[in-house]
Amino acid sequence: MDIKVLPLPEESKKSKFTDESKLGFGKIFTDRMFIAEWKVNQGWVDARVQPYGPFSLDPAALVFHYAQEIFEGLKAYKWQDGSIALFRPEMNARRFNISADRLCMPEVPEELFLEGVKQLVSLERDWIPSAEGTSLYIRPTMMAVEPVLGVKPSDHYYFYVILSPVGAYYASGFNPIKIMVEDSYVRAVPGGTGEAKTGGNYASSLKAGLEAKKKGYDQVLWLDGVNKRYIEEVGAMNMFFAYADKVVTAPLAGSILNGITRDSVLKLSDKLGFSVEERPIDVNELMADIRSGKIKEAFGSGTAAVITPVGSLCYKNESVDVGNGGVGSLTQRLYDTLTGIQYGKIADPFGWIQ
Ligand code: PMP
Repeated sequence: MDIKVLPLPEESKKSKFTDESKLGFGKIFTDRMFIAEWKVNQGWVDARVQPYGPFSLDPAALVFHYAQEIFEGLKAYKWQDGSIALFRPEMNARRFNISADRLCMPEVPEELFLEGVKQLVSLERDWIPSAEGTSLYIRPTMMAVEPVLGVKPSDHYYFYVILSPVGAYYASGFNPIKIMVEDSYVRAVPGGTGEAKTGGNYASSLKAGLEAKKKGYDQVLWLDGVNKRYIEEVGAMNMFFAYADKVVTAPLAGSILNGITRDSVLKLSDKLGFSVEERPIDVNELMADIRSGKIKEAFGSGTAAVITPVGSLCYKNESVDVGNGGVGSLTQRLYDTLTGIQYGKIADPFGWIQ
């Protein structure tokens, strides 16, 4: 599909940040956005890059009432030689369509998703920061805009992409975070929408997150929604636990997000000589193995979170340090290798970079 590029008037140009060390995460947005519309009986129409700005939506738009919405998150990295890299973007396009299917939304052709992202990033290349650890966060989103009250799939959608120059996701940077295992609220159940990247999953996680923050924890680790016994994932990260010679993570059983960083970590760990296990992890066994020192390291993985070391876990009011509570050696190696590939500092043996 042809993508039109609309003019960018002088008044739509924003001034750029001057201090890349103060970017934070997701607070500023670039000058332009990509958008395409899907209409019943027409399919995808009117793909365009236009000045970034608010939508004018009918207050009855379905997304506001019944939350028919999905999104993605990926990053563009500026390399030292000036080239721009995307990390496994085709995986985001595929996952977007898995979410779309679960929410009864139309498929976005992979080509439209990738072309929209690439054209927009290319036009906005001057916004990509280059300081260590910074990147351009890319947020593709689809939402239901038909104005009607009634629970049904929309007959009109916006698919749009916005860009945000970012630094570290957690204000603490690459430092161990404290996690509380949530034993009261649940995030997802079998047959639910846990595997989809849809806003409702995040809205329903806020209460547990706030309560954990009040108690001094950075994030909650969810347990399975039926028995509250097996480890699932953290707010925006998949979780890994490292023994002396193996790495263990929860299986993809429909209730957690199929993380692209998760998949990358599994492949990198294998390459680094660790065996990898995707299996149900009983929280009692987990806490026992942390206490006894069998588990040496814990870390989360995500596009925004990259590799985030976990220094301690609290379950039922008992807090235990993982290893010595600092950054473990595998965590550090995985961080260095993954970011090395993403920033073009080491060769990419997997063909992950575009
Ligand atoms: N789980 C959840 C719930 C998330 O929102 C994210 C972030 N997309 C992840 C895991 C990590 O996924 P990825 O590595 O693809 O960013």
